[in-house]
Amino acid sequence: MSIGENVQRIRTELPPGVFLVAASKMNGVDAVREAIAAGVDACGENRVQELLEKDALGAYAGVQKHFIGHLQRNKVKSVVGRCDLIQSVDSEELLELIDRRAAALGIRQDILLEVNIGGEAAKSGVAPEALPALLEIAAGKKQLCVRGLMTIPPICTQKDESRRYFSAMYKLFVDISGKKYDNISMDFLSMGMSADYLQAVQEGSNMVRIGTAVFGARNYA
Ligand SMILES: *Cc1c(COP(=O)(O)O)cnc(C)c1O
Repeated sequence: MSIGENVQRIRTELPPGVFLVAASKMNGVDAVREAIAAGVDACGENRVQELLEKDALGAYAGVQKHFIGHLQRNKVKSVVGRCDLIQSVDSEELLELIDRRAAALGIRQDILLEVNIGGEAAKSGVAPEALPALLEIAAGKKQLCVRGLMTIPPICTQKDESRRYFSAMYKLFVDISGKKYDNISMDFLSMGMSADYLQAVQEGSNMVRIGTAVFGARNYA
């Protein structure tokens, strides 16, 4: 199956209106362009260096650029204003740094807050219990717009195991949507990857980040 065929098949499986992000890490410019030509809505990178290199080659022309990986403090400068959406913001410190950089550029930066829904020690993301406090802080940042939530649930061996994490996320998303905060609009719930995007959209995701099922297995050699 070609990349184009993969994208078309995934599209037919997704409900209309679901935002399709090609998680393009470790895939070259030609592969990225093929995915774009086939109609993905965005490309998501999780390493800043790789994003900058491919961006310089014009890899993402025609679609949005998202940052989806762990964001180090010293890389904030490189992604603010360059990315349409920073999906992986999980601390007060990052909110502050992104807000400050956006102010310097005179822009408003769209972000998602990443939630560690499985409570895993080794994973990025704000704990669900700490999310309300982080939202309060984000609401005070004039150069930011929180557009929703993102999560990477624990690896589940059984397909239906991931559902409870997705439905817990959906509940958070709906709860927050019902509240009034400045600078926050719950437009996107970003969850679902190659192994579980169908479960994710069934549980309320409207943004999926898909790598392997678009590009084939990544070559780590
Ligand atoms: C790589 C990656 C994905 C996609 O993973 P696949 O299993 O290859 O679909 C999604 N989200 C993030 C944050 C990633 O780094």
